[in-house]
Amino acid sequence: MNIVEIQHNFNGQPVKRSSTVGIVIHHSDTDFDAGAATIHQWHLARYDVINGQKVYWKGIGYNYVIRMDGMIETGRPIDTIGSHAGPTANGKTIGVCLSGNFEKFEPTDEQYQALAELVQYIRGTYGDIPVSGHRDWMQTDCPGSNFDFDRLNAMLVGQWEGEEQMDAVKIVVNGYPIDGHIYRDQSFAPVRQIVEMMGGSVTWDEASRTVVVQNYNGPVRVVVKGKEVPGVLSNGKSFGAIRELATALGANVRWDDANKTVFVE
Ligand SMILES: [Zn+2]
Repeated sequence: MNIVEIQHNFNGQPVKRSSTVGIVIHHSDTDFDAGAATIHQWHLARYDVINGQKVYWKGIGYNYVIRMDGMIETGRPIDTIGSHAGPTANGKTIGVCLSGNFEKFEPTDEQYQALAELVQYIRGTYGDIPVSGHRDWMQTDCPGSNFDFDRLNAMLVGQWEGEEQMDAVKIVVNGYPIDGHIYRDQSFAPVRQIVEMMGGSVTWDEASRTVVVQNYNGPVRVVVKGKEVPGVLSNGKSFGAIRELATALGANVRWDDANKTVFVE
């Protein structure tokens, strides 16, 4: 984790918090990668009206800003009251702002990674305090509909396995086209469909989890005639690596690069 200490000239001394019960996540609501120094300038110009008097903010309202490249920058000192989620939350939470507009696009992988590390770091000092969004405290969309709390929570308990894109590929079996995927540079075909098309059958062995079909994407064991072939689950379907699958079934595989098509004959 990389925390860059930014020296802000505050308009008055930030006040220490007496309790810390949570971490509040924000987005900067900007299309560009706003840094802590820039946000500090914006927030110096903001004020609340208290008893008819303008009371200007002391400066940046967040305790941390996470840039799009995952760099963490300091805002108000970690143990001081911020201006980020209204009077109820400000006095007892730590505000973390991720640069970007997550109504329009998603946080970067680097931002999620830095945020997970920052949360662990804060919890090292303040205990296992919960993480919430600005919208949990006030009427706002912040931190945006593309901010994925499930992903953050999975990362925090070490259960995030990442997203991997699977591109579609055409597979033609004995002249009949079926839909497959390219995953990690291998073509995968739906196991049951291709095996049945080639005169075989698929059995489902619960005990050994030989072929699994469920709403889960990821690696799966596929065994064809006693030979294990690389397999993957996508949207509840098992896919076996087409070359290994066809070879195990005694067929030939030909890749037509021009048409991005696998022929099984
Ligand atoms: Zn916010």
